[in-house]
Amino acid sequence: MRNLLLLALLLALPASAAGPHTPVVLKAARLFDARTGKLVSPGLVVVQDGKIAATGASAALPEGAQVLDLGDATLLPGFIDAHTHITGEPGEDWRQDVIDSFQRTIPERTLEALPLARATLMAGFTTIRNLGASDFVDVGLRNGIRRGLAVGPRILTATTGLGSTGGHCDSGNSWRKGLLAEESSRGIANGPDALRAKVRENIKYGADLIKVCATGGVLSRNEDVDSPQLTQAELEAIVDEAHARKRKVAAHAHGAEGIKRAVRAGVDSIEHGSFLDDETLELMRRNGTYYVPTALALQGVKERLDKGLLPPETVKKAQAALARHRESLRKAVGRGVRIAFGTDAGVFAHGRNGEEFALLVEAGVPAAQALRAATIINAELLGLTDSLGVLEPGKLADVVAVPGDPLQDIRRTQQVFFVMKEGVVHRDDRAPAPATTGR
Ligand SMILES: [Zn+2]
Repeated sequence: MRNLLLLALLLALPASAAGPHTPVVLKAARLFDARTGKLVSPGLVVVQDGKIAATGASAALPEGAQVLDLGDATLLPGFIDAHTHITGEPGEDWRQDVIDSFQRTIPERTLEALPLARATLMAGFTTIRNLGASDFVDVGLRNGIRRGLAVGPRILTATTGLGSTGGHCDSGNSWRKGLLAEESSRGIANGPDALRAKVRENIKYGADLIKVCATGGVLSRNEDVDSPQLTQAELEAIVDEAHARKRKVAAHAHGAEGIKRAVRAGVDSIEHGSFLDDETLELMRRNGTYYVPTALALQGVKERLDKGLLPPETVKKAQAALARHRESLRKAVGRGVRIAFGTDAGVFAHGRNGEEFALLVEAGVPAAQALRAATIINAELLGLTDSLGVLEPGKLADVVAVPGDPLQDIRRTQQVFFVMKEGVVHRDDRAPAPATTGR
């Protein structure tokens, strides 16, 4: 009985239990080289002290290394989602969601975010760029995960989104005047100087980057989806201040005029882009602006629309965006605009992030390019190429594994069964094999 218990304990031990300094060797049939977009066989990654020490079939295996043989699988760099809202997700009744948001305390909402962060990591997303949260719950979550208080992806966060009065970022829309806290406490401001001050304030309170609402949106209320909501001068002030402070700028934007203003102002990425036209795409291509299509956001909106779960004010906007988004994405791919990978998780359930890959491929993105978008290209967009995005010596050991060959079947990315973040194994679904427990 006692031996059985001991065996059960041994089987349950994570790979990291071999000791924090024990080298780990990950073996699989294939490895995805995000630099070339090609598969390498066999896949071999040597991990030591949270970093990749060596890769490739010729790598020397360190003495005493723990070998994890993942079999007929593909090793990939930990996925990066460039557009999430990790602090929440919608319930089945939007009215109840409103009541909950008024009643729940900040600590309670932080606790609610913990399983969402965990689900994201377990789906293979070891890094996320969070684009909008209230009350700095995102900053607390980021810091808590960094300190090891909670399990989740590495987070770069924007804190609250910046925008104009009554715009998409203004959560006070549709409420009577005076009901909610001052606009100024929600990232809302008007005029270049006031918005510049908002950038400074967000950075002061923990923002890694700046999110700005350049046009209307689908799920906000009392505005239309495509109108520009900031002037050229306002956008320029935001980008100038953010870039001076070494922060990137992500612009939520659906309509062509708002997108053009944002691109001219020098934002780093356009999010959603439902109504992209040829002129706008050409401007984006010339400026090297990343396009984060968030195809899964539109899919999530469609699901809620079909189930009758959207507030009446948003139904028409959802239909309008859905009618155009797929075509916009196809055109962007055809024109050679830089496509990054972001889902808008939080519009739908966290943990579904991997479904974006198949939607990109359906829109004409080659499978290898979709995998590069979520790895090396997103590492560029986030400014993390020194440490992430490729499986190479010196990079952080963020490694995920999917069964089979994701270039043959992109939906393999929805079957992540192994997740390592900075050398720590957070998920390993292999059936425990008795032969490996003794080593
Ligand atoms: Zn969003």
